[in-house]
Amino acid sequence: MTSKFSLELFPPRTPEGTAKLPAILKRLAATGPEFFSVTYGAGGSEQNGTYDTLMTVVRETGVEAAPHLTCIGSTRSRIAELLAQYREAGVKRIVALRGDLPATAYSPAAPGEFHFANELVAFIRESHGAHFRIEVAAYPELHPQASSVAADFAYFADKVRAGAHAAITQYFFNADAYFDFMERCTRAGITVPVVPGIMPIVNAAQLIRFSAGCGAEIPRWLRLRIDELADDKAALQDFGTDVVARLCEKLIAGGAPSLHFYTLNQAEPTLRLCRALGLGSN
Ligand code: FAD
Repeated sequence: MTSKFSLELFPPRTPEGTAKLPAILKRLAATGPEFFSVTYGAGGSEQNGTYDTLMTVVRETGVEAAPHLTCIGSTRSRIAELLAQYREAGVKRIVALRGDLPATAYSPAAPGEFHFANELVAFIRESHGAHFRIEVAAYPELHPQASSVAADFAYFADKVRAGAHAAITQYFFNADAYFDFMERCTRAGITVPVVPGIMPIVNAAQLIRFSAGCGAEIPRWLRLRIDELADDKAALQDFGTDVVARLCEKLIAGGAPSLHFYTLNQAEPTLRLCRALGLGSN
């Protein structure tokens, strides 16, 4: 049974967030994560933020740090530049994604540029061989823009065939969605580790908004409880820790190779889960 886990951060968006990060990182790093990953935004400033946050992780914790890299709306030369910069900085692992389509005025990529994540994975492999360990996204509850379950799974298989070493899932609250996805992997001969993404329940409004955007289902019973506890922060967090810890226990017992926590740049929600699960040295 796994006791491995990784932690996801986003580049802080305010000077206060930047100032608080080192202390948060130190607390999180003390639990012994396998690596931290740092998201990459579609807009310009957050992209520099990814690199800066990555360097902060390395400097403050010494734990491996993996940048997310999105390809939509970018160019082969820009991606090549970023890969060279990451390699130079000692990065050995990348989370390779298409990225979300901009809400306004999206013009399709120029010929030869990137349309989907499998093309980015192939490009990283062509240009850097096996230097980077490549993680891709997986959607046990279906990507919101997918044309069908079968097509979405076939495209996931394309990313693995293009050279991905592992996958991290979108978060979900129903363990059966993950187990069904894993059965489909087994039937398709896909053997790379697929690590469940775990979202702590911290803030009701934020969770409901995120979930609507990314296609994560909040089961009716859970949504009702969250709604009722929305104004009682402490009660919501206690309840949320129990629910998410039970989900993690099921996933671990069912063979999940590791867990990937969306930390929301906060130490306490993830630390509470680690404590409830007896994970790490906290
Ligand atoms: P893809 O695998 O390319 O799939 C995108 C959609 O296109 C799917 O509907 C798929 O079915 C379809 N598709 C795939 N290939 C083809 C094809 N050849 N022809 C037709 N249709 C196809 N977003 C960010 O902006 N920054 C981040 O840092 C970030 N980190 C993430 C981390 C994780 C673990 C996860 C799960 C998601 C993350 N996202 C991030 C969100 C992600 O960028 C979006 O979900 C995006 O819409 C899809 O990215 P993807 O890499 O899964 O795309």
